[in-house]
Amino acid sequence: MRKIFNLIVLITFMSTSMFAQKNISTWNKNKVIAHRGAWKLNNLPENSIASLKQAIVLKCYGSEFDVHMTADSILVVNHDQDFMQMPIAQTTYQMLLTKQLPNGENIPTLESYLKTGIKQKHTKLILEIKPQKLGKETDLKLTHKVIEMVKNLKAQPWVEYISFSYDICNELIKQLPNVKVAYLGGEVAPEKLKNDGFDGLDYHFSVFRKTEWLTEAKKLGLSTNAWTVNTIEEMQWLIKNNIDYLTTNEPELLFKLLEEK
Ligand code: MG
Repeated sequence: MRKIFNLIVLITFMSTSMFAQKNISTWNKNKVIAHRGAWKLNNLPENSIASLKQAIVLKCYGSEFDVHMTADSILVVNHDQDFMQMPIAQTTYQMLLTKQLPNGENIPTLESYLKTGIKQKHTKLILEIKPQKLGKETDLKLTHKVIEMVKNLKAQPWVEYISFSYDICNELIKQLPNVKVAYLGGEVAPEKLKNDGFDGLDYHFSVFRKTEWLTEAKKLGLSTNAWTVNTIEEMQWLIKNNIDYLTTNEPELLFKLLEEK
């Protein structure tokens, strides 16, 4: 009887640890981040739920998207400050619902975007917080609301943050010390980013060709990502120089190059 009991304990332990291991290793291991989702090849709207779903289908490491805040403080996903000629920061969410994306979707809320993303555990959600051009206070309010929503939905394991605003990045690092934050601006040297607590740098690809920052960042243990890399020549140069991630409008092309390597 005791032997059977021991066997059951052993099987339970093994299956639990195997499950834990599986959980650790479910994120896609590749260099591909779909810029505003994977939209181009299938003619989907950028930053739509459909483009996020397509990035997941392609098994990208990550799917990038941009977050703004409406006049009534709803977080929405869109690239530009305007949605269909309506300035998001000065427009209520209800007003934004009067226009749709070309595929019939409403402007996605951050909530709906995250809820879609966390249905799977293979593709990361690369969340860009857009500075609102209404001053630092508004940017901090937006940042705090994003952090709160990610926390409430228990979505943190999926999310990595990026921003062109150093203030927004600093606030993210202060509030979320163990979370990955990368700066997009392109003008700050890797050493300063390291000292300021960043996980990495996510710069325009031309910056890496003009500087030694890719090598320096790697020595410092920073993650490296380049945007927006759409040509074979640029992709090959960055792959050859061992960049960690490439953010691209052409994820299918990048996957093909990586397979050929
Ligand atoms: Mg972006």
